[in-house]
Amino acid sequence: MEEMKKNKSIKCDVSQCRHNMVSEHFCSLDCISVGTHEDDPTVPECTDCNSFVKRTGCCE
Ligand code: SF4
Repeated sequence: MEEMKKNKSIKCDVSQCRHNMVSEHFCSLDCISVGTHEDDPTVPECTDCNSFVKRTGCCE
């Protein structure tokens, strides 16, 4: 399995994402893509991490 490296510049609490370092609350990617699902975003909830990939199991 590829070793995950904490990216101190990207804090994240989305434990359902396979890129998340759950115990440290950081992302492991070098770079992420952020977007929105709204026409006119006004609050954080309007934005999305487009690099999210659903975690599928414990032992991949
Ligand atoms: S890819 Fe996005 S959702 Fe997944 S851990 Fe990184 S910042 Fe969080």
